[in-house]
Amino acid sequence: MRYDAIIIGAGLSGLTSALLLARSGRRVLVLEQNAQPAPVVRGFSRGGLYFDTGFHYAGGLGETSPFRTLFRHLGLEEKLQLFPFAEEGFDCLQISSSGERFLLPVGFSAIREKLGEYFPQARTAIAGYLDEIATKWSNFPYLDLDTAIADFAMETVHGKSLHERLQEFTAWPQLQSLLSMHSLHYGVSPDAASTTLNAQVAGSYYHSVHGIVGGGRGLVDALLALLTEAGAEVRCRSEVAGLLTTADGVSGVRLTTGEEILAGNVVVTLNPTLLPQLLPPGVLRPAYLKRLKNLRQTPSAYIVFAQSRKSLEFLRRRNLFIQPRAGIFADDTHRPLEERAFYLAAAGQGPDGDISGLVGIVPTGYAEVAAWEADELRHSADYGAQKQQIGERLLRIFAQQCPELADLELIELATPLTLRDYSQAPEGAIYGVGRFIGQYNPHPATRLPGLFLSGQAIAAPGLLGTVIAAYLTSGSILGHEYLRGELRTCR
Ligand SMILES: Cc1cc2nc3c(=O)[nH]c(=O)nc-3n(C[C@H](O)[C@H](O)[C@H](O)COP(=O)(O)OP(=O)(O)OC[C@H]3O[C@@H](n4cnc5c(N)ncnc54)[C@H](O)[C@@H]3O)c2cc1C
Repeated sequence: MRYDAIIIGAGLSGLTSALLLARSGRRVLVLEQNAQPAPVVRGFSRGGLYFDTGFHYAGGLGETSPFRTLFRHLGLEEKLQLFPFAEEGFDCLQISSSGERFLLPVGFSAIREKLGEYFPQARTAIAGYLDEIATKWSNFPYLDLDTAIADFAMETVHGKSLHERLQEFTAWPQLQSLLSMHSLHYGVSPDAASTTLNAQVAGSYYHSVHGIVGGGRGLVDALLALLTEAGAEVRCRSEVAGLLTTADGVSGVRLTTGEEILAGNVVVTLNPTLLPQLLPPGVLRPAYLKRLKNLRQTPSAYIVFAQSRKSLEFLRRRNLFIQPRAGIFADDTHRPLEERAFYLAAAGQGPDGDISGLVGIVPTGYAEVAAWEADELRHSADYGAQKQQIGERLLRIFAQQCPELADLELIELATPLTLRDYSQAPEGAIYGVGRFIGQYNPHPATRLPGLFLSGQAIAAPGLLGTVIAAYLTSGSILGHEYLRGELRTCR
């Protein structure tokens, strides 16, 4: 059996790419190394509680948003129930040193008003800054259907850093915190992140904010149902060990079991630093492979899953960002856990019902758990004890900084090793390869005929970035004008 396309990796970008290709009549197979599709976002249940893992909320899905058009085109609008986050404050920032809390409301004009109330002397500068983000956030191929794809120049990240841009607000360090806190959602600190990257990620949330009923698992189940309707196949526990090639280009894949599966196109959605080891020697230029291998990764994280004996009503349809001190956010993974910024969300966001589960995401480096990286150590009592100790320490930090979290019980702790196992990203990089200023950004098409890349490294992390990456990759195969033409009918 020969497939038209094999997609390696059943994450959000792999499932979306598969859907676009299968819809156009291609025979498609998705191969996933994990036992379940989309291991990063599908979440898990424990003791009757559902915990989201790699998806908590989405930006830019408002009724009139261009991202909503993509959702409609994919069929997700019909399959999913979205619910809006709290209009008066979808994200809350706490500065722990002063105990102050600031709410960020939904929508550019509401944000302008609210920030103007908090920082009246910065009102004019805030308006200018927000206008810039409002124009830039949807400046992405496939959100903008009119600009030629080549004109987006996605290959290198360049421009002013967010840190430089926020110098304008030095007199208001709390405002700098508010405007830089979403860098936690793309894993590049403001001194190395372009204002465009920040606008694309943070700006999508400024535009509109939604949760999905059923969380990450609901999203994955909807994509799987659409794939079944489109006739695509998904095989789990199928790790790809290498790509097969002929003189004409890519011809299929070989699994770790030795099984070979043939296909005309192969889409690789893994962390692009892993591509070189899948290829036979000599099929792509050494300079290109070296570039991929050396791409810089985002930091990893501890993810704490806990249950509160008190209701966590203050986190309903809202997340809490905690920064130790006011000022532009900076990578603090070298600091003790007690001095790091972190992010808290209710475990399974929903419009109603009881909230008692908590997810806390605390960026960290791989070195903290590297001693246990060998497979045989992962089930050792020593690693278990280390996880328990870190988890409990983090719960104490949460309770110290946030009185509403005084009564928490640790359910599970994911470490950089957990993230590495679930995504295969080197050192458990939370958002994979980062879009650092000056870094080469992989293109979906490669010089090997039939070989394409997709995934969060192509456009941006998150639901928005991975869906755009899937369109870019599928458009490289099906024709961008064909796909954009379909999208124009869905507006
Ligand atoms: C803790 C956390 C919280 C997040 N919160 C949000 C949020 O609230 N909102 C949001 O929009 N985004 C969020 N994100 C980001 C979002 O989850 C990611 O950007 C997205 O899931 C990346 O999808 P992907 O398809 O690019 O990569 P992945 O999901 O990593 O997909 C790659 C797949 O390839 C598989 N694979 C690897 N090697 C092989 C192989 N050799 N053979 C076969 N399969 C292989 C992996 O198992 C994996 O399933 C969060 C991420 C994390 C980690």
